[in-house]
Amino acid sequence: MSLGNGFTLWFTGLSGAGKTTLAQEISRRLARQGVGHEVLDGDVVRTHLSKGLGFSREDRDTNIRRIGFVANLLTRHGIPVITAAISPYRATREEVRREIGYDRFVEVYVEAGLDTLVSRDVKGLYKKALAGEIPAFTGVSDPYEAPLNPSLTVNSERETVQESADRIWNFLLQRGLVAEKRELAAV
Ligand code: ADP
Repeated sequence: MSLGNGFTLWFTGLSGAGKTTLAQEISRRLARQGVGHEVLDGDVVRTHLSKGLGFSREDRDTNIRRIGFVANLLTRHGIPVITAAISPYRATREEVRREIGYDRFVEVYVEAGLDTLVSRDVKGLYKKALAGEIPAFTGVSDPYEAPLNPSLTVNSERETVQESADRIWNFLLQRGLVAEKRELAAV
């Protein structure tokens, strides 16, 4: 059975681990091949689709279910979707995986140690969280459940962005979800 081009590449990991960076890099590669796709970035989704939601477990789950819902709509019509949200709860990610289907859902765990993330502090949030200024901050004062069996784990402490992106791209290639080179349509 051909899967067409529809799939959801779902990044999960702590804030600052590299989800957005890698989503953008994979997005660039798809664009270079002329593959129409969509990126659902957690930070952006929270300003539109999930505006008003907070960071309780219930609100976080609602946010992830909404992202999963949109990803599913696009994926089932053949459009690749890349999501970049912390998505801290294993059970909720599992729910989305079931909804989208195991063949089309690729979970990438972007791993980095807390020490690295605090020193990186891309968004300046860890300092505030450690000072107690942000309640329920994932990895500091709120849980993060790492995937037990992700499709792929990349480590942004040990790998460059290009190395991580290459590993993800190769995984998609092996699964037949992307093509190395896109054949030009016959005219
Ligand atoms: P997140 O979206 O997970 O909150 P960001 O993508 O905003 O994280 O930030 C990750 C930071 O880590 C960026 O400054 C990026 O350049 C850096 N980085 C270093 N190595 C990697 C890697 N292998 N993959 C992704 N990001 C990396």
